[in-house]
Amino acid sequence: MSSRGASSPIAAGLIAWHVRHGRHDLPWQRERNPYRVWVSEVMLQQTQVATVIDYYERFMRRFPDVATLAAAPLDEVLHAWSGLGYYSRARNLQRAAQRIVAEHGGEVPTDLAALQSLPGIGRSTAAAIVALSLDRRATILDGNVRRVLSRYFAIEGPHDDAATLAELWRRAEACTPGEQVAVYTQAIMDLGATLCTRSRPLCMHCPLTDNCAARRAGRVAELPSPRRRRLARPQRAVIMLLAVCADGAVLLRQRPPQGVWGGLWVPPEFEDARGAQQFCAVELAGACLEPDPLPVVHHAFTHFDLAITPLRARCARAAAAVMQGPGVLWYNAREPARVGLPAPIAALLSAAAVVAEEA
Ligand code: SF4
Repeated sequence: MSSRGASSPIAAGLIAWHVRHGRHDLPWQRERNPYRVWVSEVMLQQTQVATVIDYYERFMRRFPDVATLAAAPLDEVLHAWSGLGYYSRARNLQRAAQRIVAEHGGEVPTDLAALQSLPGIGRSTAAAIVALSLDRRATILDGNVRRVLSRYFAIEGPHDDAATLAELWRRAEACTPGEQVAVYTQAIMDLGATLCTRSRPLCMHCPLTDNCAARRAGRVAELPSPRRRRLARPQRAVIMLLAVCADGAVLLRQRPPQGVWGGLWVPPEFEDARGAQQFCAVELAGACLEPDPLPVVHHAFTHFDLAITPLRARCARAAAAVMQGPGVLWYNAREPARVGLPAPIAALLSAAAVVAEEA
């Protein structure tokens, strides 16, 4: 094992700090293996630890190993992910599991290059899998670590700048110790999550405070440098038709596997109310569209904002009989199907159910 970085002061300080102050009881820290660490790292990419814990435990009960995940229907996987957002993570997880079964005999590879060739696994995630599950030297650089290193070394420049990122990787490599890599990796992630937070970092409790360049220069609030200003986010608007049957079931259709909300189930979408009206007349046996929309639902995607205007229609039983087939589901909240629902759609269906009961 290489001893590179073994004497870095940042590693020694973090490892000592982690013994008393780090997080030791997270579910993915038990029975550590590459699969369990991989799933936790993917869930944690865009989501806070406190939110992930329940999802992780449910996911692991349902998909305890790579083979089970690979063989499951996509609907089941998306159902387990419903509410976590960023669903491409779940689709990639399953695609990667299927590749692992086909190409690696069902064993998660532990070679960094092989890991990075799998869908949804980047350089830092691959390293986290290797470092945390095998205690093998590999360097991570997730969002928390970028923030810690930017401050500790007072590295200027936004993190979406290639030169800044290269410098951060260089520093991260140099800091990674040759031993106790799993503890160091967990420690630097924990420090970023608990002390060196984006706003109001707790420098007085930080084990790195004596040598932290940003703290010594009084520049903690300035670093990391803000990202370059982006153009205004695109705004999109859509009408969603909540076609409700007498038994309370609502019509959903499955989105194509790729793209926004890929593989998830949502109500039929239209550019305008006229499109919804025509759909009711032609496809839903003359279902009656209510003129007043339910409150607009706003949802922020990574690259745009979506405003959903829900229109409700009451359908006769004949409509449900006519509108059937693959990619069509009459979803009844009282006996919910095990399919993936985006969080705002789940909220919309609950609101529609309340309105229906009150009507
Ligand atoms: S001293 Fe403050 S800014 Fe520096 S690493 Fe610690 S918490 Fe972050």
